[in-house]
Amino acid sequence: MTRLHFASALLPSGWRDDVQVIVSDRTIAGVMVGVAPQGGDERHQLAIPGMASLHSHAFQRGMAGLAEIRGDTADTFWTWRETMYRFALTMTPDDVESVATLLYAEMLERGYTRVGEFHYLHHDHDGTPYADPAEMATRIAQSAEATGIGLTLLPSFYAHGSFGGAAPHAGQRRFISSIDQFARLMDASRKTVSPLRGANVGIAPHSLRAVTPDELRAITPLSEGGPVHIHAAEQTGEVEDCVAWSDRRPVEWLLEHAPVDRRWCLIHATHMTATETKALAASGAVAGLCPLTEASLGDGIFPAREFCHAGGFFGVGTDSNILVGVADELRQLEYGQRLKHRERNVLSRGPGVSTGRALFDAAVAGGTQALAQACGGIEQGARADIVSLDTAHPSLAGRRGDAILDGFIFAAGADAIDCVWAGGDKVVEGGRHRLRQNARDRFNATIRSLVA
Ligand code: ZN
Repeated sequence: MTRLHFASALLPSGWRDDVQVIVSDRTIAGVMVGVAPQGGDERHQLAIPGMASLHSHAFQRGMAGLAEIRGDTADTFWTWRETMYRFALTMTPDDVESVATLLYAEMLERGYTRVGEFHYLHHDHDGTPYADPAEMATRIAQSAEATGIGLTLLPSFYAHGSFGGAAPHAGQRRFISSIDQFARLMDASRKTVSPLRGANVGIAPHSLRAVTPDELRAITPLSEGGPVHIHAAEQTGEVEDCVAWSDRRPVEWLLEHAPVDRRWCLIHATHMTATETKALAASGAVAGLCPLTEASLGDGIFPAREFCHAGGFFGVGTDSNILVGVADELRQLEYGQRLKHRERNVLSRGPGVSTGRALFDAAVAGGTQALAQACGGIEQGARADIVSLDTAHPSLAGRRGDAILDGFIFAAGADAIDCVWAGGDKVVEGGRHRLRQNARDRFNATIRSLVA
């Protein structure tokens, strides 16, 4: 058992002073408010809950910054995707483990304590399944275990190159499964994840481009009640192709034809009409927003103001992992809205209310729901995922309450993170993950060989 004491902490009931958190068996066993520190308490100043990155493709961390040269035609998502395919085709299981281990250590250093790994790099270089169909998933699980990050593994079903069951192209061969192969992959994935404390499994039908309606119906039960994540309406080209195929837009199609409810998470949902925006909010599903990746890829801007006014739930994901950080992702979300609406504090809940607090609370709740966790936040029964902030950081000096979150999100970023506990284990201290140097050395060696 460990006892932590914080001078101030953000609890589900709001900011409280003199908070003692009792951690036992990786879980928060008790939270006491208004108690003086006792002998044996480990003392810190400020605590906020760990956040989930609800959408990650770990291997893409390896190509961060490698697709920033303009092509000879308009440089869009689809040219970035070709770079990503070339990268994906070369990586070995060892490479994936090396990249994922660094990524997850970075996530923890920057405020994420759980990851939803939307995992589609399944097979060997020629597209043949490995002897163990979960070979790659096992590497992801090992990276999560080594770094301490909580894992929600979302094996992705990917069968086609475009809408209407079009044949996949050669660059997609490592992603492609039949329904039977995918069922075996799910069984093997559950086995590989089962020894990890606090890990869970869902499914990820990749997108309506990659999965036919019959396949979507066939694989959804394989989630066994776990979360269901799907990419939808990220790009205008995708929306146009979906309309040509079905006379429906992607979100509209899913809401009409799939049992979208609180278990579902629609990743991006960038391009929606006002009607779709209201209907997605009413479904109870989470919108999985990845504002940094969406900006990097030139996707567009999610209708966050309208979605939040309609009572919709959102969480954030690091997706391509080009830049990882809780503060960075939330800041980009708000700044996208400011640029679009030419206003400030768009996602605040009302006059006098902190924008940082509104963003942070919503993303903690949305991430908890989307990764099927019983509770998030610093409360009894939750996994002990806690981030402490450095009150000596210039952008936090003299702040109290919600002004701390505004300082963290809009000014300091991860530079203000001091310690991070993941499942009660202090894996980050003084802003550094305990594996940082080893993980960087191994990652750098991997990347040097991949880009050589
Ligand atoms: Zn994605």
